[in-house]
Amino acid sequence: MGGTRFRLFVQPPYEDDFSRPEIITVSSPEGSLRVGPSDDSMYVIVPDRKSRPYGLNIGPLGTPFLYLPPWQGRIVAPAVPDRRGNFDHYRPGMPGFEAAHAFGCARFTLDIWENYLGHSLAWHFSDHYDRLEIDILSDWNNAQYGYGFLELGSQTDADGRTLPFSLDFDIIAHEVGHAVIYGVLGVPDAENEYPEYLGFQESFADSVSLIAAMHFPSVVENVLEQTRGNLYLANRLARFSEFSPHRQIRSANNKRTMAEFVHGWKNEHDLSEPLTGAIFDSLVDIFHENLVARGIIAPEVAALADVAQSDSSLESPLQDMFDVAFARDPDGFGEALLDARDVMGMYLAETLRTLSPDLLDYGDVAGAMLAADRMHSGGEFSDLLDGNFRRRGIGELHAGRRLRPRRKDSERRFTRTLTPGQGDYLPNLSFRERRMIFFER
Ligand SMILES: [Zn+2]
Repeated sequence: MGGTRFRLFVQPPYEDDFSRPEIITVSSPEGSLRVGPSDDSMYVIVPDRKSRPYGLNIGPLGTPFLYLPPWQGRIVAPAVPDRRGNFDHYRPGMPGFEAAHAFGCARFTLDIWENYLGHSLAWHFSDHYDRLEIDILSDWNNAQYGYGFLELGSQTDADGRTLPFSLDFDIIAHEVGHAVIYGVLGVPDAENEYPEYLGFQESFADSVSLIAAMHFPSVVENVLEQTRGNLYLANRLARFSEFSPHRQIRSANNKRTMAEFVHGWKNEHDLSEPLTGAIFDSLVDIFHENLVARGIIAPEVAALADVAQSDSSLESPLQDMFDVAFARDPDGFGEALLDARDVMGMYLAETLRTLSPDLLDYGDVAGAMLAADRMHSGGEFSDLLDGNFRRRGIGELHAGRRLRPRRKDSERRFTRTLTPGQGDYLPNLSFRERRMIFFER
């Protein structure tokens, strides 16, 4: 019995006019998925008129209250499996396509990371819920993962078009990344949460998304074709995490170091960049080492690639060398890249398994990755990992205090870690306010 087929966009259709969904098979045994889609671990719904996201909310009369799944109201446009149990009969624009797409992207990302982890993911909310509820909310301009839920809103572009996040693989995979962190690493005690834990959350979630995207055959093919294997100039891969305005301005291929954050920081997405940058650089360096080890490029070319990052006059001769080598052995490039992807995936999974969420800083992350490298390869990539962490000041310089914490940010964070029991500490809603909330729907 095979898996279950979905049609998935790796780039949302509204980012790229040429983007076409690809038929992807996920691990759910054919015939095992039900309407929704749903199975024993998660379900997708499109709630009918859900007016607010889950989490800590403020009622119409100003009283804070906790809003958690399951959704009790009506739902619209669930996706129904075909006779054999697949969902690839849903095509863009059909009712049910968004629900099928959201489920397929979440399951695809989980398949990849469960494979690196070596076991299936236990939800961090399993004390209270058996299944993750994935909601598609068209009127909400955000996406979030929290206690028992993953919610996908949408944004509106300048022409007034709705761009649903349910069609954005990167955003779904990023939120699943948070689920993986909470499920494996866990949640720190409030008094033991370091700023770098928050940066690590965003960095790891971006890495989950990046490495999952590299499992679409078309992504690796396109990246190699466009760059001829010169990944420092990779546009598609490096830009992958900054496609949506929702994700703010960030990119895996950045130059930021911890020195920028020593005197304080405002936003965990910015703070995540030095770590994400070091991870991306290491992925590219491991790829180059693989190319050298396979005799596909000369060691001098790999060395030149390092120098060219800070000397733009070398970019053009470097590209010429990659063009020649790539034309000679495109398949070798592909294998070397997939191998580097899997080394990084395994190291990150191992890092998550060995770290503790309390008092976590980037130095711990670097130490755990180096230990993973010693375990898996006897330290083959230790020098390059160490060099990339050092260059970013990781483990040496630490994030200072948070400057001007925005209320929205802290609410959002609370939303991820809250549990149903915390509602006991909130004031009771009056009958009147409860009624108003009910009729809002
Ligand atoms: Zn995030």
